[in-house]
Amino acid sequence: MPPRKLLAVLAALLLGAATLVAVPTQAQAAPNFKAPFPCGQRWTYSHHSQEVRRALDFIRSDGGTTNGTPVLASAGGTAYRFSQPGGAGNYIAVEHGGGWKTYYFHLSAYSVANGQAVSQGQQIGVTGSTGASSGPHIHYEQLYNGVGQNIVINGSGLAYPGSYGSHHLTSDNGCGGPGKQFRTWGSGINVRSQPRLNASIVTTLGGPTTVYVLCQTQGDTVTAEGYSHNWWSKLRDQNGFMTNIYIDHPDARLPGVDLC
Ligand SMILES: [Zn+2]
Repeated sequence: MPPRKLLAVLAALLLGAATLVAVPTQAQAAPNFKAPFPCGQRWTYSHHSQEVRRALDFIRSDGGTTNGTPVLASAGGTAYRFSQPGGAGNYIAVEHGGGWKTYYFHLSAYSVANGQAVSQGQQIGVTGSTGASSGPHIHYEQLYNGVGQNIVINGSGLAYPGSYGSHHLTSDNGCGGPGKQFRTWGSGINVRSQPRLNASIVTTLGGPTTVYVLCQTQGDTVTAEGYSHNWWSKLRDQNGFMTNIYIDHPDARLPGVDLC
């Protein structure tokens, strides 16, 4: 859908979530936690009635397979291995310092040694379904002084929906490299060798996806979906230009992106 309409929907969702999520007062600033799964992947999450503490369960919602996907440290720290066959299964706890700790349950395998120092975005395990689990997922928690907190990713509190599918999170954990991350919308979007409508087509984005914008520039004016302007983004991974009309942001000129 058009960006402005999408933003209105998102704002409505966020307002709804805000009434549900009360972030407790935290004495010590938390690390800047990131999603516990790889860069660019989109997962959906839920909190069921029998869930412990303030956990959220995550499964992939981007068409990829949940089982076997790397589990990443959401911040740096020291990783410890545990096993609880009747409950959490194989799990990792990462101690971040300052009283903060994160949990990653039901792993099919560990990827680090017990007591190993890990950095943000480093793989610590493999998603599985060990212990008391009805299917592959990541059970994820953030604790402060041993008490489960409402989960915050990139400074934003997540909602606690009762089932999968209503809320999604796209990871920027471990992305590294240059470029600013955006989502696209629309389908069959051409990426061209130059910011010109007659330039050769490098590739086509089949549907909404995550892109990394290296820089932006003014080129041919594009009119589509009720919008008309001449701003184009240079994409890192596609090595070409796409019109900013299909970048999911309300401004024609993207904030925080240099000129080419
Ligand atoms: Zn769970």
